[in-house]
Amino acid sequence: MRLSRYFIPTLRDNPKEAEIVSHRYMLRAGMVQQTSAGIYAWLPLGLKVMNKIADIVREEQDAMGANEVLMPTIQSADLWKESGRYDDYGAEMLRIQDRGERDMLFGPTNEEMITDIFRTHVGSYKQLPMNLYHIQWKFRDEIRPRFGVMRGREFLMKDGYSFDLTHEDAVIAYQKIFLSYMRTFARMGIKAIPMRADTGPIGGDLSHEFIILADTGESEVFADKKWMEMDTTAPDLSYDDIDGLSEYFKELTNIYAATDEMHKEENAQGVDIVTARGIEVGHIFNFGTKYSDPMKATVQTNDGKQIPVHMGSYGIGVSRLVGGIIEASHDENGIIWPEEIAPFHVGLMNLRFRDDACTKACDDAYAKLQEAGVEVLYDDRDEGAGSKFKNMDLIGLPWQLAIGPKGLEAGTVEFKNRKTGEKMEVSLESALEKIVD
Ligand code: ATP
Ligand code: MG
Repeated sequence: MRLSRYFIPTLRDNPKEAEIVSHRYMLRAGMVQQTSAGIYAWLPLGLKVMNKIADIVREEQDAMGANEVLMPTIQSADLWKESGRYDDYGAEMLRIQDRGERDMLFGPTNEEMITDIFRTHVGSYKQLPMNLYHIQWKFRDEIRPRFGVMRGREFLMKDGYSFDLTHEDAVIAYQKIFLSYMRTFARMGIKAIPMRADTGPIGGDLSHEFIILADTGESEVFADKKWMEMDTTAPDLSYDDIDGLSEYFKELTNIYAATDEMHKEENAQGVDIVTARGIEVGHIFNFGTKYSDPMKATVQTNDGKQIPVHMGSYGIGVSRLVGGIIEASHDENGIIWPEEIAPFHVGLMNLRFRDDACTKACDDAYAKLQEAGVEVLYDDRDEGAGSKFKNMDLIGLPWQLAIGPKGLEAGTVEFKNRKTGEKMEVSLESALEKIVD
């Protein structure tokens, strides 16, 4: 993509309304625009990153055997009256009436609707286990939308739901999800720590929040110091290996990490605990028959009984992750995108637009990179080198390739790793080779 043809309305100065670094950089890099409190338009660069995050989420859900669906944003209030949550949910729910004065709402979550879909079509234990997910916009009328896309009112969430015959089966579903979440976040180049979370009236230990540590995080968390150094790459384990899944789950949920101190007293004797701040990027929850009971989502067992299914729900904050990843990965000059979700892999800079030989070398490099399937953002504008470097650092692509007349004379270009800051003076050919590798 040529920067001259790309809609990326960058800002030179820090926007006053942005309190935290991710919000500042997202506005400055022209990724989003606020349209009203907590509601954002996603501009090309921001959308590209969010789509990459959604793609990773989707691939890992599919790999685990979940089926993608797409439920509407607007829901009828009837289902929520059936589950009892229409009155319970409170002011966070945006309530609407249609022209026939029927009560509708903009979905803050989808447990009721998925339960309805399930009970409409599934009646036998033979159809279980089942796992459905979608990636859809949610609306929650948050009392204090803030921090840009991190706590929005309209936000993109992956929410998934599992259906099982027994609690034991639901535990297996939960452990599969657990592994898939570890894989999902590792692929995004971030360390998300699974923390034991409150299960409320349902009890048990089957609720975890996946938290990335950042000073600006809204949650206070408590974790074994071990997590700080630990590599959280998930093992190469098959989803059919039930024993392996359970072992992995146990292994990780011993190393202590929790979102409240109560668990600390209970479980953390003799452990070196670090208190930190974190951003919740995912939340998984087993809730048994909480919805299937009142909504009569039952299946027939092999001896002919009708029993309510055991369910769980599994969220990932897709739009929140865009900000969360920036919180976890930036420096004073701008964003540092992890490779897998970077909007482009290389930023190519023409340092002297008015020099024909230089422009030709840049055009050639651009063509070669594109041919090799490398995603490249080419700063081909008639602008000074200094402002180009600054802009590229802000946008935060993993690699920068700067081509100027001086270097060309000596047969070299400048090749920089955004994360380490390491710069190499190499020939254009070897830079291209390195990138394509
Ligand atoms: P929080 O405690 O941050 O309010 P939650 O527990 O209400 O979140 P869930 O219902 O578990 O959220 O939703 C699943 C995921 O959706 C969360 O883990 C989070 O990443 C994301 N999310 C929730 N609320 C928002 C929001 N207002 N803006 C952006 N993302 C959100
Ligand atoms: Mg939550």
